[in-house]
Amino acid sequence: MSRRSYRRTGAGLSQDDSGCLILHADMDAFYASVELIDRPHLRGQPVIVGGGGRSVVLSATYEARRSGVHAAMPMGRARRLCPEAVVIEPDHDRYAEVSRGVMEVFRSVTPLVEPLSLDEAFIDVSGAVRGSGTPSQIAAVIRDRIADEQRIACSVGIAATKFVAKLASAQAKPDGVLVVPRDETVTFLHGLPAGALWGVGEKTEEALRRLGLVTVADIAHTPKATLRRALGDASGAHLHDLAWGLDPRPVIPETVEKSIGGEETFSTDIDDPDVISRELLRLSERVAARTRAAGLVGRTVVIKIRFADFSTITRSRTLPEHTDLARVLHATALALYARLGLDRARLRLVGVRLEGLREASEGHHQMTLDERPLGWREAERAVDRASARFGAGAVRPASLVAQPAATEETARHRRAPRSGDGHGPLRYQARHPYGRE
Ligand SMILES: [Mg+2]
Repeated sequence: MSRRSYRRTGAGLSQDDSGCLILHADMDAFYASVELIDRPHLRGQPVIVGGGGRSVVLSATYEARRSGVHAAMPMGRARRLCPEAVVIEPDHDRYAEVSRGVMEVFRSVTPLVEPLSLDEAFIDVSGAVRGSGTPSQIAAVIRDRIADEQRIACSVGIAATKFVAKLASAQAKPDGVLVVPRDETVTFLHGLPAGALWGVGEKTEEALRRLGLVTVADIAHTPKATLRRALGDASGAHLHDLAWGLDPRPVIPETVEKSIGGEETFSTDIDDPDVISRELLRLSERVAARTRAAGLVGRTVVIKIRFADFSTITRSRTLPEHTDLARVLHATALALYARLGLDRARLRLVGVRLEGLREASEGHHQMTLDERPLGWREAERAVDRASARFGAGAVRPASLVAQPAATEETARHRRAPRSGDGHGPLRYQARHPYGRE
């Protein structure tokens, strides 16, 4: 595949991903990487994101980390360790925007995405492997799309359980993939320091050290009763389980998405209004299908336009009523685009997003005489059913079927796994039960 498809192998591990249905995807040096998107001349240099009121390091490039700089370190100390580093104030709006794009990529694979923070998530691919390839292939698609659409690097851990997948992504950094085969989980774990286990903070690590337990193997070979006495009943038992790779916690998707969107980066900058209209239609179709699959409707349509010089604008319109119809999204997106009066400005990226979401069952759709929305809903639901049976893309609107040779970029995206249909039901539960690291 592409430049990013190489993977890192753990020492002595095979690459058998057959029992590994959990991915942990984590952006590398997220804030710093986002800042480098618009400052390509700083690539390869030590860069620190921090300041802006809180005088600690929020993120640092790997070049800065080599000097000992790390997140949460006081800025003064970081500057002394790495005086040549370029320091950039954080731009949280921008990070949130890139984060939305990243989460969209995850959710185009499966709805079973559990975000842990802006830049990392667990992804349960047990449903997606039927249509989208092996876990390793899905990881490669995710990494390629994030690199192409968001222009940042993402590392992925692939394992049978959440906590091993999280450990694996940490070992895969930067810009790598690590598979921990299910049957080799214990081998992998036992070579790690005790502090690597999820939930082991400084205090627990100190308690373990007093027992002479330094590695995960040490914990595994300590009687559960001893751990319980030292760490408390629940923690002791839990750590012992983790040390043997036992972690039954499922991936728990967010209860309700705040918005659903999609975007497309062109392989070459586009100024042809017909191509842009078709792209807006294709994105509207994708967003509407995902909205219906999630049982939601939305009311605000947002388009995003990125120009050849990387400047980016968004425009939105709130509709008189909620919708989940591609033709409504497309008509609104087109009107927003037309109102910009761009006169063949060269575009790098277009995006369509539906916000103001709520459960479809909460309200009913009103029919207006000229739009026959119920008829269109029937038609679009028929497309959903056909896609579920024959694969996404089996039924396309006429203007997409008639499209001439696709660019390399759009062809790639058509092959990419799509969201929504056929990935099993969404599970609704509370999010973040385990806290964050
Ligand atoms: Mg990260």
